[in-house]
Amino acid sequence: MRILIANDDGIYSPGLAALAEVASTFGEVRLVAPDVEQSSMGHAITHSRPLTVRRTSLAGFDAWRVNGTPADCVALGAALWEGVDVVLSGINLGPNLGNSMWHSGTLAAAKQAALLGLRGIALSTSISDGEPRFEALSPFVARVLEVLLPARELTLVNVNLPEKPRGLRWTCQSVRHYDGKVVPGRDPMGREHQWITVIPIEGTEEGTDRRAVADGFVSITPLRLDLTDHEALAAAMARHPL
Ligand code: MN
Repeated sequence: MRILIANDDGIYSPGLAALAEVASTFGEVRLVAPDVEQSSMGHAITHSRPLTVRRTSLAGFDAWRVNGTPADCVALGAALWEGVDVVLSGINLGPNLGNSMWHSGTLAAAKQAALLGLRGIALSTSISDGEPRFEALSPFVARVLEVLLPARELTLVNVNLPEKPRGLRWTCQSVRHYDGKVVPGRDPMGREHQWITVIPIEGTEEGTDRRAVADGFVSITPLRLDLTDHEALAAAMARHPL
């Protein structure tokens, strides 16, 4: 199995190396990732300038850095390496739960794989303070891959790992709340500025990704590319015939 690995934290993120370690026990891995951090870049692609793919030294892995976005990395990786079966993205240093999926570069890399007719799996982890302890997470990443890699019908999956997992759960996306917030502040010169940040969300709904991670479970959410609200479409066609 050929496994292409990308992320949005950049080629030198410890999360990428941790994912590559585990993935290399399942197949042949190649790492193609942004040369600098591209978190919250969403699914942007670079079309206004050329991109370069440069080989880099990374713990013995076949690794390449790209001066582009996470989606660029998957597009280039899949074009330049024949026979890619699946794209793994992560492990992101921070969660990608609920509505934050819309901003996520980690998930965008997996979505790009799905757009190309490949399979994409995004993996992210919660961090309360300091660096994540990947040696504790790795057995759970392996269990996730044991479940998902043979499940060929799942073409796009979002996975979130709590800091100390105690099991795995199938979940749906929590869409009740949005955690983005604009917070005013001042720079060292006393000038006012604004930061777009995230606020903790209180209260989680049963069966969602947020609830699973809050309860200490690895959340596994199957996604789809089709954004159509089929219920709304049927209702609109009935109520407002064109
Ligand atoms: Mn990130």
